[in-house]
Order: sequence, then C-alpha cells, then structure tokens
Amino acid sequence: MVSQIIFAIVFLAAVLFFAKNLRTIQRNILLGRTEDRNDRLGERMGVMARLALGQGKMVVRPIAGILHIIVYAGFVIINLEVLEIVIDGLIGTHRIFGSMGILYDVLIGSFEWLALAVLVACVIFLVRRLVLRIPRFWANEMTKWPKTDATLILVMEILLMGAFLKMNATDQVLAGRGVEHYTTAGSYPVSTWLRPFFESMSTGTVLAFERGFWWFHIVGILAFLNYLPYSKHFHILLAFPNTFYSNLFPKTQIKNMPRVAGEVKSMMDPSIPPPEPMVNNVAGTEVPERFGAKDVFDLTWKNLMDAYSCTECGRCTSECPANLTGKLLSPRKIMMDTRDRLEEVGKVIDVKGKWEDDGKSLHSYISDEELWACTTCNACTQACPINIDPVGIIIDMRRYSVMEESKSRPALTSMFTNVENNGAPWAFGPDKRMDWTQ
Ligand code: SF4
Ligand code: SF4
Repeated sequence: MVSQIIFAIVFLAAVLFFAKNLRTIQRNILLGRTEDRNDRLGERMGVMARLALGQGKMVVRPIAGILHIIVYAGFVIINLEVLEIVIDGLIGTHRIFGSMGILYDVLIGSFEWLALAVLVACVIFLVRRLVLRIPRFWANEMTKWPKTDATLILVMEILLMGAFLKMNATDQVLAGRGVEHYTTAGSYPVSTWLRPFFESMSTGTVLAFERGFWWFHIVGILAFLNYLPYSKHFHILLAFPNTFYSNLFPKTQIKNMPRVAGEVKSMMDPSIPPPEPMVNNVAGTEVPERFGAKDVFDLTWKNLMDAYSCTECGRCTSECPANLTGKLLSPRKIMMDTRDRLEEVGKVIDVKGKWEDDGKSLHSYISDEELWACTTCNACTQACPINIDPVGIIIDMRRYSVMEESKSRPALTSMFTNVENNGAPWAFGPDKRMDWTQ
C-alpha cells in the first residue's frame, strides 16, 4: 500500500510538471503571429502520415534512417508496456495484462526484441557521434549543451531498455521460484539470456533487484518525459503537428507582405485606402506591427513551432550550399537560435508577468552575415525530415533589416535604387530599354 501511494504521488507530480511545461511551450509558440494553416486537411494528413508516422524523409540516409525507425518504433510500442506498469503501480497488481494469454506472450516477446534493437541502435548512434565524430554533429553551432543533450538522451534510452530487460529477467526467476505475487506470465526471448546472472542469488536479493529495476524503469521514463521539453527530443511529440501544418505551397514561393501589397494597391488606385498600421499584443504588451521580423513574435506561430520541433540533426546544414562553401550560415543554427531566443522571451514573461523589452532581439542571435549568405535555394527545407522551414525566418529577418533599418548589401542597395528610379533592376531609364535593338 505504501508503495502504491508513493507511486501515485510520483506519477501525479510527473504528469502535472509535464503539463505545466507543455502549457509554457504552447504559450511561447502562440506568441507568434497568426497564420491560418487549417486548409487542405486531407493533404495535410497525408504529409503527416508520410513524414512523421512513416519517417519518409529519414530513409534518404539509410543507416541513420533505419536506426531511427527502430528507436521510434520502440518508443511508440513500448508505451503499451508502460501502461501496464502504471496500472500495476497504482492498484498494486503484478502484470495485470498477463491474463491475455498468448497475446501477452507475443506482446512481451516483441517488446523484448524491440528493446534489444533500440539498445543496439542507441549504441551505434553513440559510436557515430562520439567515436566516428560525424562532422554534422560537431559543427560550430553544436556547442556544449546540444552535444551533451544528444548524448544524455542516448545514454538514458540505453539505461531504460537495459532496466526493462533486467526487470523481466528477475521477474522470471521469482516466478520460477513460486514467489507470491509473481505469476508466470509472458514469453521472454531476450531477457531469458540474463537469468543466469540472478539464478544464484537469494530470493530476497532477486526481489530487491526486481523492485529496483521496476522503479528505475518507470521513474526513468517519467523523468525522460519531463526532460523532453528542455531538449531537442521534444520533436518526438511535435513532429506530428509540425508536419501536419507543413507549408503546402511550392517551397520557393515567397509570400507577399499584406501591408506592402495594400500600400501598392492604394498607390495604383487612390480609391483604395492605405492599410491601417496594426498593433500586436505580445503577452500583455502592445508591439507595433513591423515589416519583417525583428524578434520572435514577428514570426508566425508555425515558425516558432518549427524551432521547438528541430531535432538538431544537421541534415539541412549538410545540404546548404552557403554552409558547404564556407559561409557562416547554418540553417540548423537559425532554428536553434530562434528557439533559444523564444525561450529567453518566455522567461522574461514568466518573471515579469508580461512581455517587457529586454533590449535584445532575434538579430542579437543571428547576424546579418548569416542572413545575407542565404541563396533561398530551399535545399534545407527539402532535406529536413519534418519539413522545417528556416528560409521563412531568414527572409522575414532580411525584410526587417531592409525595410525598417535600411540595412542591406551594397549590391542590393544599387538594385533597390534602380527599381525605385527606373522601375527595373538595371541602371538604365525606361526610355533606354529598346536601345539594344538598334
Ligand atoms: S535556402 Fe538558404 S539556408 Fe537553406 S540551404 Fe539554401 S542557402 Fe542554405
Ligand atoms: S531544421 Fe530539420 S534538418 Fe535542420 S537540424 Fe532541424 S530537424 Fe534537422
């Protein structure tokens, strides 16, 4: 009974803490501008099924792709086993689903094979990161925390899978000895290899190990759950909505700015009034609508969801021609910086109860040099396994630099002047346009 009460308290605390963090992330994402992405629902479901459920883009790189599918399947399917542990923990039963007979054998057997496969996959992932040092995991933006985060997650998964198998091995030993409560249930094709380690121990010791592995496994899972919001691993949850709300327009299509389009229409037809400047409410503070993006709340909610969904895999950066030719730009860093800045803004709101300008902006994280290195080729959005769009952020930040700060590259400045004076990017007036025919 005491153990049930302790379990209920731990479980409830974990769920509540997770819910609180989810609400904070939801609030942060909704700091972004509104954008309607509830159209073409069938198409959206298809993209989500292909990319998030079917891992469609992951297998473009087959080794990492297949290993990732194993870990992903493990995460999804082993949740069934977690459900049993939670019910057992709350009501004091042992292997409550054991009465399912042969179906239970099949389930536990497949969980065990999957747990082994996940364990092996995680070890290979660690070797690729730490021993083979695959370059995209060691790029400049992969500072201490992103590297530690990735390693921590892999180690956690190895430990959790190990605890699951050892829990099953000790369970079999106890059931074999007819210990009260430990009914024989399930088939254990993998953990049975571990039985000899525990067979020679006294029943009390095996019992202590079994309880230890059981608690370690479930508390580890609850800790893992609560670690997700602080980690790039949050993509486990956000990959689904993020792919559902993908940009369905052609990748290279650049969206008009409604306010600028309204000004142009008004200039061309004086009967159309110019659009009124808008004011956005950012967590209790009025912020004037800007041309382009100065800070995270000038981006759309989808840009901000992208930032929380990024797995920091670096596939985008490894395909980026600017990065490959030695420029400072890395689309992965654009997403990591957006998330870092968003978290920073969120913390100000948490502390002050509303948004107060902290003297920084997204431009404090992302330099002009990075922004102007982008060719808008969209190789990054094409490469991203979950359709994240760093280019939309880059374009909006450039728009702010040009339209609000009058900052651009020298070559572009003369092009802008020509467009303004000549109605074309070239340095010739409209009266000279046909000279080439002479
Ligand atoms: S669109 Fe820009 S950031 Fe993306 S791959 Fe091309 S150059 Fe790199
Ligand atoms: S934007 Fe996509 S491809 Fe790039 S690091 Fe993030 S998840 Fe990977």
